[in-house]
Amino acid sequence: MLRIGFHLEGPQDDETLRILLARLLGIERSAIEPLVFSSRVDGYEGVVQFLGAALAEFEQEGVRAAVVGVDNDGTPMPGLDGTVVEDPRRPRHRPGHQPGLHVSCRYCRLAAAVERARTTFEEKGSDWPVVIAVPVEALESWLLWGADCVGRGRHPRPEDLPVGELKTKLYGRKHATQHDFRVVGRPIAEQMDLDGLRRDVPSFALFADAVEHHRDRLLAEPHSQP
Ligand SMILES: [Zn+2]
Repeated sequence: MLRIGFHLEGPQDDETLRILLARLLGIERSAIEPLVFSSRVDGYEGVVQFLGAALAEFEQEGVRAAVVGVDNDGTPMPGLDGTVVEDPRRPRHRPGHQPGLHVSCRYCRLAAAVERARTTFEEKGSDWPVVIAVPVEALESWLLWGADCVGRGRHPRPEDLPVGELKTKLYGRKHATQHDFRVVGRPIAEQMDLDGLRRDVPSFALFADAVEHHRDRLLAEPHSQP
């Protein structure tokens, strides 16, 4: 059993990323034993504020890895030339960003907080992987891209849609219930073409690349761990 800590903005995000992580690793979802922080807090500020406490708890629980993340929550705007311009208050993470420099980038902010948290772990050498997910502008953009794959309509460039519009297009309302997620979101996560998602949606590609980077350690047999 692969014990993975999930510190995200809510239960639907936990379940979606558990499904996607299992699919990227080529294992059954049931092979992942999810752990969530015992003092669960939802929302961006809660995730950031309690990141250190959550990782410390995961460390105590002996996880193999953790997945942490928040939505980017920006509002893209139409540009003068017809293209869409990202929200300057919510810059999207780019390769080459440095966590100490790009403080308004949520991905970099999480990366810096993860490194700070590691210094407090009791066991030296606790360098288990922490995979960061910052969907642009919300996790529903990944699912909305996938909605096309499962015959629910064509929605090109979902990263260019503001958060409210993403949720309305996917679920028909701004706040999805657990039922909405079970009926619409989860089947898409289970079936969509992840190679295509990786090609078309950069924020998913960052997540998938990180999973790929840590694949050997995630799938290593426990007895082979140091
Ligand atoms: Zn960044």
